[in-house]
Amino acid sequence: MPELPEVETIARGVDKRIRGDRIVQVWFSRHSQPFKTPRARQIKGLSGRAILAVQRTGKHIVFELGPSESKPDALTSCAQWIVHLGMTGRLLVTSPEDPVATHTHARLLLESGRELRFVDPRRFGRLEFRDLHCEAAFGAPGDEPLTIGEREFAALFHGRRLSIKAALLNQRLLAGVGNIYADESIFHAGIRPQRRANRLTRLELERLRVALREILTHAIRLGGSSVSDYVDADGERGFFQLEHCVYLRTGEPCRRCQTPIRRVVLAGRGTHYCPKCQH
Ligand SMILES: [Zn+2]
Repeated sequence: MPELPEVETIARGVDKRIRGDRIVQVWFSRHSQPFKTPRARQIKGLSGRAILAVQRTGKHIVFELGPSESKPDALTSCAQWIVHLGMTGRLLVTSPEDPVATHTHARLLLESGRELRFVDPRRFGRLEFRDLHCEAAFGAPGDEPLTIGEREFAALFHGRRLSIKAALLNQRLLAGVGNIYADESIFHAGIRPQRRANRLTRLELERLRVALREILTHAIRLGGSSVSDYVDADGERGFFQLEHCVYLRTGEPCRRCQTPIRRVVLAGRGTHYCPKCQH
């Protein structure tokens, strides 16, 4: 499942390719699952809109759209198309002649002659349209891990009796952090993932905040160099794998101290840690 760095990479890649373009025609598949807003309303809402920008909010990709038809240079977004990739969703920038993959649920023909496609075999992805004249702009439920400050970060965990691993995965606290980056950041902060969030010291929480930001930023930088693999139709699928320190390394030696990495289940998720480096 794509996590924050992958979604950020995809959003940047799509933005680079289609910002300033215009949606001239929309085709949607007959499956109902991907359409959080009814299909007909989305088609009507999207048609003719200028694409002002594409950006990531939490784990969602948000297309900021201008008014239909007029003013291609409008700066203020008045509608949004919100894409959640789910487990297997992909956004591809193609040309209309490119073969259409099975499980294609959306095809947006653009004025430039290119086509934006949403492909999702398992159909956990979601497409939503918001008209900002009558609906609120999309906001991810949790705080943004790349920009959250020290005090706000510490406040998130105040009074939380669940494990720090479970707290990091809670999307209402922090948006976009999944299993890989939770395990890796907890390792780099030197904290046992089982520890209760409310028992961590201010210093430990600050180490965690900085580790999380650095790991996510590093992953975005690496993903950015292979952005073509994500969004171009001829690219090969493959989320960039970091050189993980603990994630999925059960029994292998810790990269710091050679102690075998252990695995426990927390919040229903496999959790990997070094029993010597993490306290
Ligand atoms: Zn170790």
